[in-house]
Amino acid sequence: MSRFWSPVVGTLSPYVPGEQPKLRNLVKLNTNEHPYGPSPRVLEAIRGACDDTLKLYPDPSSDSLRQAIADNCGVRPEQVFVGNGSDEVLAHVFLALLKHPRPLRFPDISYSFYPVYCGLYGIDHETVPLTDDFRIDPEDYLPGRNGPAGAIIFPNPNAPTGRALAVGDIERIAAGNPDAVVVVDEAYVDFGGESAIPLIARHDNVLVVQTLSKSRSLAGLRVGFAVGSRELIDGLERVKNSFNSYPIDRLASAGAIAALQDREYFERTRQAVIKTRQDMARGLGALGFDVLPSAANFVFARHPGHDAAALAAALRERGIIVRHFRQPRIEQFLRITVGTDEQTGLLLAALADILNAR
Ligand code: PMP
Repeated sequence: MSRFWSPVVGTLSPYVPGEQPKLRNLVKLNTNEHPYGPSPRVLEAIRGACDDTLKLYPDPSSDSLRQAIADNCGVRPEQVFVGNGSDEVLAHVFLALLKHPRPLRFPDISYSFYPVYCGLYGIDHETVPLTDDFRIDPEDYLPGRNGPAGAIIFPNPNAPTGRALAVGDIERIAAGNPDAVVVVDEAYVDFGGESAIPLIARHDNVLVVQTLSKSRSLAGLRVGFAVGSRELIDGLERVKNSFNSYPIDRLASAGAIAALQDREYFERTRQAVIKTRQDMARGLGALGFDVLPSAANFVFARHPGHDAAALAAALRERGIIVRHFRQPRIEQFLRITVGTDEQTGLLLAALADILNAR
């Protein structure tokens, strides 16, 4: 606490992102980045945008980027909102759409930034436990079981479990809560989930949030977006224009558009990650791990005979970093990002070594 801080600052519990180590040569499987670099066309586009025009502000409404996203998603540009990473998009979503007299509802185990935004904006919220096998039960989000919610948000596939919900179930949730916004955070959807974007044509309360950080290998560029009805997008624009006129810089816009246009590279690299995930899940299973079915670019696994924190520490000693959450229900799990085949081989060999030594 400082006497200079606004009072709210002392009450915040900021989000702690996964470590970005300064050491090189680590096998970095802790923050769900894509193991392959972005499309060469992205680098070319960014280099092409490095010129004298950087003296000018970028387009405040990011029209060409929104058009590229609209083309990809089969919607109109007015149904697209863009931001500096999907974290910024989510921040605006929380303030613009999720603060209501009734509490916001989300799963007990989901993206740990959600309660942080609630703290920042003073949003009343309630969590609903995932099932024993770490699934979202759609019934929990219908007014019949837990009463009406002010709004609903969940990641699909969920993080950090990796489990996906079928679009039919999401539609039941949207149809059952016509007066509440239902936000589907699809950061990982391209690795095996089914997008809820088609629902926005039928349900004006559905907002889908996606990012270029994962399946487009652009975590360093910071571009995310939301797709939904005009009404929802207009609310987001009002908040954004009360916060930052230019969240997408010229280089980010050029790179993001090129990434969205190179569909062949996107398809090839995401399929490579999906294939490696299957090999990794099989390898972990063979070592005795319980692995939750994953539709994401990471797996969530626990070993019945070994403490997860100890395993994470032993991996770190061998130069491999994975994510461990000290949180009830999941403290015996490791979240392991799908890397290259070579990194996966190193991970499995290191785990075999650690398990044998105990
Ligand atoms: N949603 C979920 C579920 C995530 O795991 C992440 C990544 N930490 C994000 C959103 C934010 O990603 P970004 O800001 O890089 O778009």
